[in-house]
Amino acid sequence: MSHFDVNKIRQDFPILHTSVNGKPLIYFDNAATTQKPTAVIDALVKYYSEINSNVHRGVHSLSEKATNAYEASRKTVQKFINAEKAEEIIFVRGTSEAINLVANSYGQKHIKDNDEIIISTLEHHSNIVPWQMLCERTGAKLKVIPINRDGEIIFGEFEKMISDKTKFISIAYISNSLGTINPVKNIISLARSKNIPVMLDGAQAVQHVKIDVKELDCDFFAFSGHKIYGPTGIGVLYGKESFLNEMPPYQGGGDMIKNVTFERTTYNELPYKFEAGTPNIAGSIGLAAALNYVEDIGIERIAEYEHGLLKYGTEKMMEIEGMRIIGTAKEKASVISFLAGKTHPYDLGTLLDQLGIAVRTGVHCTEPLMKFLKIPGTVRASFAFYNTKEEIDILTNGIKRAISMLI
Ligand code: PMP
Repeated sequence: MSHFDVNKIRQDFPILHTSVNGKPLIYFDNAATTQKPTAVIDALVKYYSEINSNVHRGVHSLSEKATNAYEASRKTVQKFINAEKAEEIIFVRGTSEAINLVANSYGQKHIKDNDEIIISTLEHHSNIVPWQMLCERTGAKLKVIPINRDGEIIFGEFEKMISDKTKFISIAYISNSLGTINPVKNIISLARSKNIPVMLDGAQAVQHVKIDVKELDCDFFAFSGHKIYGPTGIGVLYGKESFLNEMPPYQGGGDMIKNVTFERTTYNELPYKFEAGTPNIAGSIGLAAALNYVEDIGIERIAEYEHGLLKYGTEKMMEIEGMRIIGTAKEKASVISFLAGKTHPYDLGTLLDQLGIAVRTGVHCTEPLMKFLKIPGTVRASFAFYNTKEEIDILTNGIKRAISMLI
């Protein structure tokens, strides 16, 4: 593997050279959203400066250019996650919308009273609430896989939970709060043997591990562009064609129809059946630029470098007196959630901000998980491949200083 030149990579991200509170920015809130390389920013500027137009509608040249760019982005996504067909890639606003789409559309057709849907204790609110809403509408029940003290799901409990009533499983590939990498392949293979569809919430996975939906054999996969160095407001729902084809549309409007009369409407084919209204054309182009950028560096090299940061950061953190790392799974992505001594996460986060360090504090949209762990929340430092060990040193020194000020 060739040398990973982080200083060169940092040159690609303009925001990393700015200051916050008079200090050079140290951005450790990558699980919330990632920074954007010039390649993505330029792609957006180019789109709006040179080809902005609506897609799938005009005969004029600009519209054709915009349509081609939009459809080329779909193909880039298809290739990136190794989907069988471009039609299996639905552009949505983000992971939340993708999960809502499946819960509404698939759920409306297939989930009935007393059916069971399985999620895990680790889920983000976006992979809890849409299923709860579906349960409220249908009378189905939500089953939650418990976790152990390291923040790993207890597979044996999952096995016991599966029954004839289980009609859907939706699981985070990687936990945003603790960084746990779930054994999704084992989950899918067990579900496969019982013919139960599986959706993966890939919001925290796509930027850290190689995603191959064919190899995973998941039925649905969701991710957000903004977590993989792309723009906000664009995301992807991958679904196997056989599922998407038989699912009813999620929203009505332009583009998702074939013919409309006041009496009856016929729906468009995939993927347009699920893309009502003018889509986020610029976003899709920015996302494709982000995926190409990641591909050029190589997701395996990114993962290896980030793993080094995680190891180094964990060791450094453990040197701090009173440090408690929340989430110590054997398989972990580059996220360190922690509580330091008796300090409140919010106070610690505020003091670190004074040093130009951006970390997340609170429940990280996983309130039930925090309740299970019996903690008010955590401070979360989440690393990307543009972060450095020197930045981690500044963080750990900052934490030590903050503890001495707060206690
Ligand atoms: N699931 C997980 C695991 C997440 O980390 C997030 C974002 N924090 C989401 C879902 C929701 O993603 P978005 O807000 O981009 O829709």
